[in-house]
Amino acid sequence: MAIEVSLLSHTEDPLRSLYLAYRTCYSALTPQQIAARIEDERIPRETMRSFITERLKTGHASPLEQVWFEFAISGVSRAFSHQFVRHRVGISFEQQSQRYVTYKGGEFPYAIPKSVERADMGDAMAAHLAQTGALYEAMIEAGVPAEDARFLLPNATGTNFKVTVNFASLLHICDLRLCTRAQWEFRRVAALLRAEVARVEPELGRYLQPKCGELRTGYCDESEADWEACPIGRVRPHKDALFRLYDQYRKGELQPLRAEDWAAIEGDGAEAAGG
Ligand SMILES: Cc1cc2nc3c(=O)[nH]c(=O)nc-3n(C[C@H](O)[C@H](O)[C@H](O)COP(=O)(O)OP(=O)(O)OC[C@H]3O[C@@H](n4cnc5c(N)ncnc54)[C@H](O)[C@@H]3O)c2cc1C
Repeated sequence: MAIEVSLLSHTEDPLRSLYLAYRTCYSALTPQQIAARIEDERIPRETMRSFITERLKTGHASPLEQVWFEFAISGVSRAFSHQFVRHRVGISFEQQSQRYVTYKGGEFPYAIPKSVERADMGDAMAAHLAQTGALYEAMIEAGVPAEDARFLLPNATGTNFKVTVNFASLLHICDLRLCTRAQWEFRRVAALLRAEVARVEPELGRYLQPKCGELRTGYCDESEADWEACPIGRVRPHKDALFRLYDQYRKGELQPLRAEDWAAIEGDGAEAAGG
């Protein structure tokens, strides 16, 4: 079972829509007049881009809700879908039903995580799932409705979605689900959502980052232990470390440069070779 994410449709011109939403707030012009200026190119796309870039640095987030994206998502597990549907705001889901869809011959799609394969237990898991499928089929043949036979099915079972999500919500989902703390399958889906948006609107796609990304908060707010374990922790400060540093600075207690720091600064002259 392969995870696939396809962008089916989106706000006709996301950049124009975002610009119009933001500009309406800050302009004496009416939105109709702004739209006319976009139309006759008195406001070029580059101007729209840089204006939006500046707005995205602020907390003025509601215009982001006016841009929507429609996705098809397939080949994901029910383990993923339990997490996905926890997002409540700015996203609408339709998910393949296990009541209305009966798996023919007890053959249901499923995912085997790489960690299971690495542990050399992929075949054992597949055999177990085949037994589950056989029992499911026996129940269906015995007249058990699909909505009850599905009680057998595991988190590994495949499912599909059609979703519509606004850009504000998509940013939030990526904040959380591109974080290395998120589950691998959700990280994979979030990365594919990001790639699909970047394909049609690179300027917006690049904002879909984990929350510690340089275009999001720029720091980590997970536990310090998780931050230390995170490979991105090496290039992102932890929130508590920033506050500690600020506190030291405010009190005039910044740690003075140590002898080894000066040694690193001054070097032994060897680096100077070759200019
Ligand atoms: C790494 C990770 C581990 C997790 N582990 C668990 C777990 O062990 N168990 C578990 O049950 N869940 C877990 N979750 C799910 C998590 O608790 C959230 O349900 C999920 O991330 C949805 O996030 P959200 O509420 O921020 O998003 P949304 O539901 O889309 O909400 C978007 C924003 O609106 C705010 N909001 C939404 N509804 C309300 C409301 N009624 N009142 C006030 N504000 C609101 C949210 O706070 C958020 O800021 C985990 C999530 C992550 C990323």
